Amino acid sequence: MIFFGKGTCLFGLAQFLLDPAHIHKNDREILLSRSNFSRKGKEMSKTEDEELRRRKLEEALEVKSLRRIISAYLNYPEAAEEDIRRYERCFRRLPPAHKALLPHIPFKYQKLRWCISQNSYFIFEMLKAFEPPIDLNQDIENFEDQNMTNDNRLLSDKMKLPSLSGGKCGNPHSWAEIGDGKGHNGEYRPLNRKIVPEEKKIESSNENAGNCSIRSQCKTNAENSDNPRSSSMLDCDGHASSSPPDWLDPSFQFHVPLVDVDKVRCIIRNIVRDWAAEGQRERDECYKPILKELQRLFPHRSKESPPTCLVPGAGLGRLALEISCLGFISQGNEFSYYMMICSSFILNQSQVANEWRIYPWIHSNCNSLSDDDQLRPVSIPDIHPASAGITEGFSMCGGDFVEVYNDPSQVGAWDAVVTCFFLDTAHNIVEYIEIISRILKDGGVWINLGPLLYHFADTYNQDDEMSIELSLEDVKRVSCHYGFEIQKESMIETTYTTNPRSMMQNQYSAAFWTMHKIPAAPRTAGNNLPLL
Ligand code: SAH
Repeated sequence: MIFFGKGTCLFGLAQFLLDPAHIHKNDREILLSRSNFSRKGKEMSKTEDEELRRRKLEEALEVKSLRRIISAYLNYPEAAEEDIRRYERCFRRLPPAHKALLPHIPFKYQKLRWCISQNSYFIFEMLKAFEPPIDLNQDIENFEDQNMTNDNRLLSDKMKLPSLSGGKCGNPHSWAEIGDGKGHNGEYRPLNRKIVPEEKKIESSNENAGNCSIRSQCKTNAENSDNPRSSSMLDCDGHASSSPPDWLDPSFQFHVPLVDVDKVRCIIRNIVRDWAAEGQRERDECYKPILKELQRLFPHRSKESPPTCLVPGAGLGRLALEISCLGFISQGNEFSYYMMICSSFILNQSQVANEWRIYPWIHSNCNSLSDDDQLRPVSIPDIHPASAGITEGFSMCGGDFVEVYNDPSQVGAWDAVVTCFFLDTAHNIVEYIEIISRILKDGGVWINLGPLLYHFADTYNQDDEMSIELSLEDVKRVSCHYGFEIQKESMIETTYTTNPRSMMQNQYSAAFWTMHKIPAAPRTAGNNLPLL
């Protein structure tokens, strides 16, 4: 069992601890506005009525943010179709002589449609398997109407859609820019159009071909899918075997901005990093040195009382799983529902290795060596997580690192903390370091690998977006202030969710270090103290 969040065990290999009180911090606007809200909430909660109202509002926000994320996933095929229509419009404008040189291009667009339908099928199956920790069917609109007098401003602020200009196009491991890198504007509306069967779509030269909602598209996919899993999902009529939950109904969906759909594309690339053979090089560069350090520092890992290791910003959970397989009680912490819905599906629902085939590289026509490269499938997961040999107690904890691990119960709770491409997600990196120090046992170790590409640097148009951007030198100095001693440090060249066959490879010189927390006082027989 792997857990996600604080409290509720959901299912399968990974126990996913989903605590609605913490889970809401799944995207930046919500993170910011929720903390404003908490502050405001404290001032106001003088009576029980007000407290109840505040909690209801929090839950309404929770529901709204989760529905928005689900809507982004569901808008994926429509947004991708829109891109293809744009390519087709451009192609049609070519002079006949130029078109004649490129007779294969219209077929490429049809192949892209097929790939999109395959990705959509995977996404829909993933959403169907998701068990929301809150009731998504509740009528939040009414609640807002009747109760949102004073707090109306807060809610509408919270739900303000992010500005695209705030996206950091140079930061491949932040949300805004890992899409096709071009940036889009405007809103997306799920269009519940009539299903066009896949065969007809391929034949058709009509620009509307392939234009359907994810729900209908997935039904069609099940009939035509080359996904290894799809045949087992069909009933005798060729329909998907299990019916989707109510909250996947198009009537529940939000209109989401394209930047949200870009996050879905970003998740697809993250799947390759963590769960495909193609991601092995990145994992060898980033995860292997960390795993080696853990093995070096904890050579005698007792089965009866395994050392504990926390992985904040765990992404899709592969590193946390690998650490668990080394014999640690490993916990990943992650605040993005986009990530958690996906990691929960892979960790808990995978039946066999290579169960799914997705097409991660189709969303960019740039820097391809060939169309075949762009259209190549990737099988996932490269391993069967349930058979990987995890140590009991493996969990994924949903929520904001600062909120969850500031809890007094976390003081001195961990033998090791591992941060990989995480430190620069902080609004205030000093706070991250302070908490890491506090939650480590005396003598505990902190292993870090990553750049300092601060996620909130250069976020224009966002009022007072807090961002403390320190140099590596200052990060190390602050760490020493919080009781850390550097034991080892080096730089590691690596990429992040990069297409290995792309002509563009964004390379990081990532800082890699091992620090240990200097014991405050002499200890008696510390059982899980690392070898330093
Ligand atoms: N460690 C993973 C993911 C790195 S990207 C890897 O190396 O692939 C950074 C991750 O941290 C993202 O998944 C993001 O959602 C998560 N994250 C950012 N801020 C967070 C916070 N305050 N609390 C928990 N997770 C956070």
